[in-house]
Amino acid sequence: MNKKSIKDIEVKGKRALVRVDFNVPMEGGKVTDDRRIRAALPTINYLLDNGASVILMSHLGRPKDAYDPKYTMDAVAVRLAELLGRPVLKTEDCVGEKAESAANQVSPGDVVLLENTRFHKAETKNDETFSKQLALLGDIYVNDAFGSAHRAHASTEGVTHFLSPAVSGFLMEKELVYLGKALADPESPFVAIMGGAKISDKIAVIEHLLEKVDTLLIGGGMANTFFVAQGHSIGKSLVEESAIETARKLLAAHGDKLVLPVDCVVATEFKADAEFKVVPVDEVPEGWMILDIGPATVAHFANYLAAAKTVIWNGPMGVFEMANFAKGTFAIAQALAGLKGATTIIGGGDSAAAVEQSGLAEQMSHISTGGGASLEFLEGKVLPGVAALDDK
Ligand code: ADP
Ligand code: MG
Repeated sequence: MNKKSIKDIEVKGKRALVRVDFNVPMEGGKVTDDRRIRAALPTINYLLDNGASVILMSHLGRPKDAYDPKYTMDAVAVRLAELLGRPVLKTEDCVGEKAESAANQVSPGDVVLLENTRFHKAETKNDETFSKQLALLGDIYVNDAFGSAHRAHASTEGVTHFLSPAVSGFLMEKELVYLGKALADPESPFVAIMGGAKISDKIAVIEHLLEKVDTLLIGGGMANTFFVAQGHSIGKSLVEESAIETARKLLAAHGDKLVLPVDCVVATEFKADAEFKVVPVDEVPEGWMILDIGPATVAHFANYLAAAKTVIWNGPMGVFEMANFAKGTFAIAQALAGLKGATTIIGGGDSAAAVEQSGLAEQMSHISTGGGASLEFLEGKVLPGVAALDDK
Protein backbone atom coordinates (compact mmCIF):
# COMPACT_ATOMS: atom_id res chain seq x y z
CA MET A 1 0.00 0.00 0.00
CA ASN A 2 1.21 3.45 -0.85
CA LYS A 3 0.50 5.02 2.54
CA LYS A 4 3.20 6.59 4.69
CA SER A 5 4.04 5.01 8.02
CA ILE A 6 5.79 6.38 11.10
CA LYS A 7 9.08 5.15 9.61
CA ASP A 8 8.66 7.58 6.71
CA ILE A 9 8.57 10.74 8.80
CA GLU A 10 10.65 12.56 11.43
CA VAL A 11 9.13 11.97 14.87
CA LYS A 12 11.88 13.36 17.08
CA GLY A 13 10.68 16.08 19.41
CA LYS A 14 7.15 15.78 18.05
CA ARG A 15 3.90 15.21 19.90
CA ALA A 16 2.34 12.20 18.18
CA LEU A 17 -1.44 12.10 18.37
CA VAL A 18 -2.08 8.38 17.94
CA ARG A 19 -5.48 6.78 17.26
CA VAL A 20 -5.30 3.32 18.79
CA ASP A 21 -7.87 0.59 19.32
CA PHE A 22 -8.16 0.29 23.09
CA ASN A 23 -11.75 -0.92 22.84
CA VAL A 24 -11.00 -3.75 25.27
CA PRO A 25 -13.31 -6.00 27.27
CA MET A 26 -13.74 -4.83 30.88
CA GLU A 27 -15.31 -6.25 33.98
CA GLY A 28 -15.59 -4.76 37.44
CA GLY A 29 -13.42 -1.80 36.44
CA LYS A 30 -10.56 -4.02 35.17
CA VAL A 31 -9.32 -4.88 31.69
CA THR A 32 -10.06 -8.59 31.19
CA ASP A 33 -8.19 -9.01 27.90
CA ASP A 34 -5.28 -6.66 27.15
CA ARG A 35 -4.37 -8.02 23.72
CA ARG A 36 -5.40 -4.84 21.92
CA ILE A 37 -3.30 -2.74 24.28
CA ARG A 38 -0.29 -5.00 23.80
CA ALA A 39 -0.81 -4.91 20.04
CA ALA A 40 -0.27 -1.13 20.06
CA LEU A 41 3.00 -1.29 22.03
CA PRO A 42 5.37 -1.57 19.03
CA THR A 43 4.06 1.71 17.62
CA ILE A 44 4.04 3.47 21.00
CA ASN A 45 7.52 2.24 21.91
CA TYR A 46 8.94 3.17 18.50
CA LEU A 47 7.66 6.72 18.94
CA LEU A 48 9.00 7.00 22.49
CA ASP A 49 12.36 5.44 21.60
CA ASN A 50 12.72 7.92 18.76
CA GLY A 51 12.22 11.03 20.84
CA ALA A 52 8.51 11.67 20.46
CA SER A 53 5.86 12.12 23.11
CA VAL A 54 2.69 10.14 22.66
CA ILE A 55 -0.92 11.30 23.04
CA LEU A 56 -3.22 8.33 22.65
CA MET A 57 -6.91 8.34 21.81
CA SER A 58 -9.48 5.60 21.37
CA HIS A 59 -13.14 4.82 21.77
CA LEU A 60 -14.30 2.28 24.34
CA GLY A 61 -17.67 0.57 24.14
CA ARG A 62 -20.79 2.39 23.12
CA PRO A 63 -21.46 5.20 25.60
CA LYS A 64 -24.43 7.39 24.78
CA ASP A 65 -22.56 10.53 23.66
CA ALA A 66 -21.81 11.65 27.24
CA TYR A 67 -19.51 10.80 30.14
CA ASP A 68 -20.33 7.37 31.56
CA PRO A 69 -18.14 5.89 34.33
CA LYS A 70 -18.73 2.44 32.82
CA TYR A 71 -16.73 3.43 29.73
CA THR A 72 -13.93 5.53 31.20
CA MET A 73 -10.37 4.86 30.07
CA ASP A 74 -9.07 4.78 33.68
CA ALA A 75 -8.44 1.04 33.78
CA VAL A 76 -6.87 1.10 30.33
CA ALA A 77 -4.40 3.75 31.52
CA VAL A 78 -3.48 1.59 34.51
CA ARG A 79 -2.85 -1.47 32.34
CA LEU A 80 -0.95 0.52 29.73
CA ALA A 81 1.34 2.01 32.38
CA GLU A 82 2.12 -1.51 33.64
CA LEU A 83 2.90 -2.74 30.14
CA LEU A 84 5.05 0.28 29.24
CA GLY A 85 6.76 0.45 32.60
CA ARG A 86 6.28 4.21 32.69
CA PRO A 87 3.58 6.57 33.91
CA VAL A 88 0.56 7.30 31.77
CA LEU A 89 -1.34 10.52 32.34
CA LYS A 90 -5.05 10.06 31.69
CA THR A 91 -6.99 13.23 30.93
CA GLU A 92 -10.55 13.89 32.11
CA ASP A 93 -11.73 14.65 28.60
CA CYS A 94 -10.34 14.07 25.11
CA VAL A 95 -10.68 17.71 24.06
CA GLY A 96 -10.79 21.13 25.71
CA GLU A 97 -8.70 22.93 28.26
CA LYS A 98 -7.44 19.97 30.30
CA ALA A 99 -6.52 17.88 27.27
CA GLU A 100 -4.77 20.87 25.70
CA SER A 101 -2.83 21.75 28.81
CA ALA A 102 -1.71 18.12 29.16
CA ALA A 103 -0.65 18.04 25.51
CA ASN A 104 1.18 21.37 25.83
CA GLN A 105 3.22 20.22 28.80
CA VAL A 106 4.56 16.91 27.48
CA SER A 107 8.25 16.26 26.97
CA PRO A 108 9.76 13.52 24.81
CA GLY A 109 9.04 10.12 26.39
CA ASP A 110 5.79 11.20 28.03
CA VAL A 111 2.58 9.26 27.49
CA VAL A 112 -0.90 10.76 27.71
CA LEU A 113 -4.11 8.79 27.27
CA LEU A 114 -7.13 10.89 26.37
CA GLU A 115 -10.55 10.01 27.77
CA ASN A 116 -12.98 8.01 25.58
CA THR A 117 -13.60 9.87 22.30
CA ARG A 118 -17.17 8.54 22.18
CA PHE A 119 -18.16 10.61 25.19
CA HIS A 120 -18.78 13.21 22.49
CA LYS A 121 -21.43 12.82 19.82
CA ALA A 122 -19.16 14.92 17.62
CA GLU A 123 -16.77 11.95 17.31
CA THR A 124 -19.11 9.70 15.32
CA LYS A 125 -20.60 12.74 13.50
CA ASN A 126 -17.09 13.51 12.26
CA ASP A 127 -17.70 17.07 13.41
CA GLU A 128 -15.29 19.66 12.10
CA THR A 129 -14.92 21.73 15.27
CA PHE A 130 -14.28 18.62 17.33
CA SER A 131 -11.76 17.36 14.75
CA LYS A 132 -9.93 20.70 15.00
CA GLN A 133 -9.88 20.41 18.80
CA LEU A 134 -8.30 16.97 18.55
CA ALA A 135 -5.80 18.21 15.98
CA LEU A 136 -4.55 20.84 18.47
CA LEU A 137 -3.19 18.04 20.67
CA GLY A 138 -0.47 16.79 18.34
CA ASP A 139 2.18 17.80 15.82
CA ILE A 140 1.82 14.57 13.84
CA TYR A 141 -1.10 12.15 13.47
CA VAL A 142 -0.70 8.38 13.56
CA ASN A 143 -3.51 5.91 12.95
CA ASP A 144 -2.92 2.42 14.33
CA ALA A 145 -6.60 1.44 14.65
CA PHE A 146 -7.40 -0.53 11.52
CA GLY A 147 -10.56 -1.92 13.14
CA SER A 148 -12.06 1.59 13.18
CA ALA A 149 -10.79 2.68 9.78
CA HIS A 150 -14.02 1.80 7.98
CA ARG A 151 -15.72 4.60 9.90
CA ALA A 152 -15.25 8.25 8.99
CA HIS A 153 -15.13 9.57 12.53
CA ALA A 154 -13.34 12.63 13.89
CA SER A 155 -10.50 10.61 15.43
CA THR A 156 -10.02 8.44 12.33
CA GLU A 157 -10.70 10.82 9.47
CA GLY A 158 -11.79 14.35 10.40
CA VAL A 159 -8.63 15.10 12.37
CA THR A 160 -6.43 14.49 9.31
CA HIS A 161 -7.91 17.59 7.65
CA PHE A 162 -6.27 19.71 10.34
CA LEU A 163 -3.10 17.81 11.22
CA SER A 164 -0.30 16.63 8.99
CA PRO A 165 1.65 14.54 8.43
CA ALA A 166 -0.93 11.77 8.90
CA VAL A 167 0.62 8.31 8.77
CA SER A 168 0.00 4.69 9.74
CA GLY A 169 1.34 2.91 12.79
CA PHE A 170 2.83 -0.57 12.57
CA LEU A 171 -0.43 -2.47 13.18
CA MET A 172 -2.26 -0.51 10.52
CA GLU A 173 0.70 -0.89 8.16
CA LYS A 174 0.71 -4.68 8.57
CA GLU A 175 -3.01 -4.85 7.78
CA LEU A 176 -2.52 -2.78 4.64
CA VAL A 177 0.49 -4.78 3.52
CA TYR A 178 -1.18 -8.19 3.89
CA LEU A 179 -4.75 -7.41 2.89
CA GLY A 180 -3.62 -4.93 0.25
CA LYS A 181 -1.19 -7.33 -1.42
CA ALA A 182 -3.70 -10.20 -1.35
CA LEU A 183 -6.19 -8.13 -3.30
CA ALA A 184 -3.87 -6.16 -5.55
CA ASP A 185 -1.09 -8.59 -6.35
CA PRO A 186 -1.70 -12.07 -4.90
CA GLU A 187 0.67 -14.91 -5.53
CA SER A 188 -1.33 -17.70 -7.17
CA PRO A 189 -2.91 -20.14 -6.68
CA PHE A 190 -5.10 -17.83 -4.60
CA VAL A 191 -7.70 -19.68 -2.54
CA ALA A 192 -10.37 -18.04 -0.40
CA ILE A 193 -12.38 -19.82 2.26
CA MET A 194 -15.70 -18.32 3.26
CA GLY A 195 -17.99 -19.44 6.03
CA GLY A 196 -19.93 -18.07 8.95
CA ALA A 197 -23.59 -17.97 9.69
CA LYS A 198 -25.10 -15.96 6.89
CA ILE A 199 -24.42 -15.50 3.21
CA SER A 200 -26.32 -12.20 3.12
CA ASP A 201 -23.64 -10.49 5.28
CA LYS A 202 -20.97 -11.44 2.81
CA ILE A 203 -22.36 -11.42 -0.71
CA ALA A 204 -20.30 -8.35 -1.58
CA VAL A 205 -17.13 -10.04 -0.28
CA ILE A 206 -17.87 -13.22 -2.22
CA GLU A 207 -18.50 -11.28 -5.42
CA HIS A 208 -15.33 -9.22 -5.06
CA LEU A 209 -13.16 -12.22 -4.16
CA LEU A 210 -14.55 -14.23 -7.09
CA GLU A 211 -12.93 -11.67 -9.40
CA LYS A 212 -9.54 -12.35 -7.81
CA VAL A 213 -9.28 -15.95 -6.61
CA ASP A 214 -8.66 -19.22 -8.40
CA THR A 215 -10.88 -21.13 -5.97
CA LEU A 216 -13.48 -20.15 -3.40
CA LEU A 217 -14.22 -22.80 -0.78
CA ILE A 218 -17.58 -22.35 0.97
CA GLY A 219 -18.43 -23.81 4.36
CA GLY A 220 -20.34 -22.81 7.49
CA GLY A 221 -23.99 -21.90 7.61
CA MET A 222 -23.71 -19.96 4.36
CA ALA A 223 -23.14 -23.20 2.42
CA ASN A 224 -26.70 -24.23 3.30
CA THR A 225 -28.23 -21.64 1.01
CA PHE A 226 -26.08 -22.99 -1.83
CA PHE A 227 -27.28 -26.53 -1.05
CA VAL A 228 -30.87 -25.38 -1.37
CA ALA A 229 -30.01 -23.63 -4.63
CA GLN A 230 -28.67 -26.98 -5.86
CA GLY A 231 -31.91 -28.69 -4.91
CA HIS A 232 -30.78 -30.55 -1.75
CA SER A 233 -33.08 -30.93 1.25
CA ILE A 234 -31.27 -29.73 4.34
CA GLY A 235 -33.76 -30.46 7.11
CA LYS A 236 -34.09 -27.64 9.59
CA SER A 237 -30.65 -26.13 8.88
CA LEU A 238 -30.25 -22.37 8.86
CA VAL A 239 -31.14 -21.11 5.38
CA GLU A 240 -31.73 -17.68 3.92
CA GLU A 241 -34.68 -17.84 1.57
CA SER A 242 -33.97 -14.35 0.27
CA ALA A 243 -30.46 -15.33 -0.84
CA ILE A 244 -31.28 -18.57 -2.68
CA GLU A 245 -31.60 -16.78 -6.00
CA THR A 246 -28.24 -15.06 -5.47
CA ALA A 247 -26.64 -18.40 -4.63
CA ARG A 248 -28.12 -19.90 -7.79
CA LYS A 249 -26.73 -17.06 -9.90
CA LEU A 250 -23.28 -17.34 -8.32
CA LEU A 251 -23.21 -21.08 -9.01
CA ALA A 252 -24.27 -20.53 -12.61
CA ALA A 253 -21.70 -17.79 -13.23
CA HIS A 254 -18.77 -19.12 -11.19
CA GLY A 255 -19.41 -22.86 -10.87
CA ASP A 256 -15.80 -23.47 -11.92
CA LYS A 257 -14.40 -21.55 -8.93
CA LEU A 258 -16.94 -22.30 -6.21
CA VAL A 259 -16.31 -25.45 -4.16
CA LEU A 260 -18.98 -26.65 -1.74
CA PRO A 261 -18.84 -29.21 1.08
CA VAL A 262 -19.42 -32.85 0.19
CA ASP A 263 -20.40 -34.00 3.68
CA CYS A 264 -21.54 -32.36 6.88
CA VAL A 265 -22.09 -32.88 10.58
CA VAL A 266 -25.80 -32.83 11.35
CA ALA A 267 -27.44 -32.57 14.76
CA THR A 268 -30.93 -32.88 16.14
CA GLU A 269 -30.80 -29.51 17.87
CA PHE A 270 -28.75 -26.31 18.05
CA LYS A 271 -27.16 -27.44 21.32
CA ALA A 272 -23.66 -28.37 22.49
CA ASP A 273 -24.78 -31.83 23.64
CA ALA A 274 -27.20 -32.59 20.81
CA GLU A 275 -27.02 -35.99 19.12
CA PHE A 276 -24.92 -35.71 15.92
CA LYS A 277 -23.60 -37.69 12.96
CA VAL A 278 -21.79 -37.24 9.63
CA VAL A 279 -23.79 -37.52 6.40
CA PRO A 280 -23.25 -36.69 2.71
CA VAL A 281 -24.76 -33.30 1.82
CA ASP A 282 -27.56 -34.89 -0.20
CA GLU A 283 -28.62 -37.11 2.71
CA VAL A 284 -29.46 -34.66 5.48
CA PRO A 285 -32.29 -36.33 7.42
CA GLU A 286 -35.61 -34.56 7.82
CA GLY A 287 -35.64 -32.63 11.10
CA TRP A 288 -31.81 -32.48 11.52
CA MET A 289 -29.59 -29.44 11.04
CA ILE A 290 -26.12 -28.91 9.57
CA LEU A 291 -23.70 -27.51 12.17
CA ASP A 292 -20.27 -28.26 10.68
CA ILE A 293 -18.45 -29.50 7.60
CA GLY A 294 -17.57 -33.20 7.63
CA PRO A 295 -14.18 -34.99 7.37
CA ALA A 296 -14.47 -35.69 3.63
CA THR A 297 -14.98 -31.96 3.06
CA VAL A 298 -11.93 -31.16 5.17
CA ALA A 299 -9.87 -33.50 2.97
CA HIS A 300 -11.41 -32.03 -0.19
CA PHE A 301 -10.70 -28.44 0.90
CA ALA A 302 -7.21 -29.37 2.14
CA ASN A 303 -6.39 -30.56 -1.38
CA TYR A 304 -7.00 -27.10 -2.80
CA LEU A 305 -5.18 -25.48 0.11
CA ALA A 306 -2.10 -27.68 -0.29
CA ALA A 307 -1.25 -26.00 -3.60
CA ALA A 308 -2.19 -22.46 -2.56
CA LYS A 309 0.30 -19.61 -2.33
CA THR A 310 -2.22 -17.08 -0.98
CA VAL A 311 -5.14 -17.95 1.30
CA ILE A 312 -7.76 -15.64 2.74
CA TRP A 313 -10.15 -17.13 5.26
CA ASN A 314 -13.26 -15.46 6.57
CA GLY A 315 -16.00 -17.22 8.47
CA PRO A 316 -15.91 -20.38 10.61
CA MET A 317 -16.79 -23.72 8.98
CA GLY A 318 -19.29 -24.59 11.67
CA VAL A 319 -20.63 -23.68 15.09
CA PHE A 320 -17.11 -23.68 16.57
CA GLU A 321 -18.42 -22.36 19.90
CA MET A 322 -19.61 -25.95 20.57
CA ALA A 323 -16.81 -28.55 20.73
CA ASN A 324 -18.69 -31.19 18.72
CA PHE A 325 -19.13 -28.74 15.85
CA ALA A 326 -15.71 -27.08 15.99
CA LYS A 327 -13.75 -29.88 14.33
CA GLY A 328 -14.18 -28.65 10.76
CA THR A 329 -13.03 -25.13 11.65
CA PHE A 330 -10.03 -26.36 13.62
CA ALA A 331 -9.08 -28.83 10.86
CA ILE A 332 -9.05 -26.01 8.33
CA ALA A 333 -6.92 -23.94 10.72
CA GLN A 334 -4.56 -26.93 10.92
CA ALA A 335 -4.45 -27.21 7.12
CA LEU A 336 -3.49 -23.52 6.87
CA ALA A 337 -0.92 -23.83 9.64
CA GLY A 338 0.78 -26.63 7.72
CA LEU A 339 1.22 -24.68 4.49
CA LYS A 340 4.81 -23.91 3.63
CA GLY A 341 5.65 -20.77 1.74
CA ALA A 342 2.06 -19.58 1.51
CA THR A 343 0.63 -16.32 2.80
CA THR A 344 -2.30 -17.09 5.09
CA ILE A 345 -4.65 -14.31 6.13
CA ILE A 346 -7.55 -14.53 8.55
CA GLY A 347 -10.27 -11.87 8.52
CA GLY A 348 -13.41 -11.51 10.62
CA GLY A 349 -13.94 -11.31 14.36
CA ASP A 350 -15.28 -14.83 14.91
CA SER A 351 -12.77 -16.38 12.53
CA ALA A 352 -9.92 -14.70 14.41
CA ALA A 353 -11.38 -15.96 17.70
CA ALA A 354 -11.66 -19.49 16.29
CA VAL A 355 -8.05 -19.49 15.11
CA GLU A 356 -6.91 -18.18 18.51
CA GLN A 357 -8.87 -20.99 20.16
CA SER A 358 -7.27 -23.56 17.87
CA GLY A 359 -3.87 -22.58 19.28
CA LEU A 360 -2.50 -22.08 15.75
CA ALA A 361 -2.65 -18.30 15.56
CA GLU A 362 1.14 -17.94 15.57
CA GLN A 363 1.38 -20.01 12.42
CA MET A 364 -0.78 -17.71 10.29
CA SER A 365 0.89 -14.94 8.30
CA HIS A 366 -1.66 -12.38 9.41
CA ILE A 367 -4.77 -12.30 11.56
CA SER A 368 -6.66 -9.12 10.90
CA THR A 369 -7.63 -7.11 13.96
CA GLY A 370 -10.53 -5.50 12.14
CA GLY A 371 -13.78 -7.44 11.93
CA GLY A 372 -16.02 -5.08 9.99
CA ALA A 373 -13.07 -3.18 8.55
CA SER A 374 -11.46 -6.28 7.08
CA LEU A 375 -14.76 -7.32 5.49
CA GLU A 376 -15.21 -3.90 3.91
CA PHE A 377 -11.61 -4.01 2.70
CA LEU A 378 -12.26 -7.43 1.14
CA GLU A 379 -15.35 -6.01 -0.54
CA GLY A 380 -12.99 -3.66 -2.32
CA LYS A 381 -14.23 -0.58 -0.49
CA VAL A 382 -11.93 2.32 0.28
CA LEU A 383 -11.74 2.71 4.08
CA PRO A 384 -12.03 6.40 5.02
CA GLY A 385 -9.46 6.10 7.82
CA VAL A 386 -6.95 4.66 5.36
CA ALA A 387 -7.72 7.02 2.50
CA ALA A 388 -7.12 9.94 4.90
CA LEU A 389 -3.46 9.01 5.45
CA ASP A 390 -0.65 10.59 3.44
CA ASP A 391 0.43 8.81 0.28
CA LYS A 392 4.04 7.68 -0.03
P1 ADP B 1 -16.73 -13.64 11.15
O1 ADP B 1 -17.00 -12.88 12.41
O2 ADP B 1 -15.41 -14.35 11.18
O3 ADP B 1 -16.90 -12.77 9.93
P2 ADP B 1 -19.42 -14.65 11.05
O4 ADP B 1 -19.82 -13.65 12.08
O5 ADP B 1 -19.91 -14.44 9.67
O6 ADP B 1 -17.82 -14.82 11.05
O7 ADP B 1 -19.91 -16.10 11.47
C1 ADP B 1 -19.59 -16.69 12.69
C2 ADP B 1 -20.73 -17.50 13.22
O8 ADP B 1 -21.21 -18.42 12.27
C3 ADP B 1 -20.33 -18.30 14.42
O9 ADP B 1 -20.98 -17.81 15.56
C4 ADP B 1 -20.78 -19.73 14.08
O10 ADP B 1 -21.39 -20.40 15.16
C5 ADP B 1 -21.77 -19.50 12.97
N1 ADP B 1 -21.95 -20.67 12.11
C6 ADP B 1 -21.03 -21.29 11.37
N2 ADP B 1 -21.54 -22.36 10.75
C7 ADP B 1 -22.84 -22.43 11.11
C8 ADP B 1 -23.93 -23.33 10.81
N3 ADP B 1 -23.75 -24.39 10.01
N4 ADP B 1 -25.13 -23.09 11.37
C9 ADP B 1 -25.30 -22.03 12.19
N5 ADP B 1 -24.34 -21.15 12.51
C10 ADP B 1 -23.12 -21.34 11.98
MG1 MG C 1 -18.85 -12.28 13.33
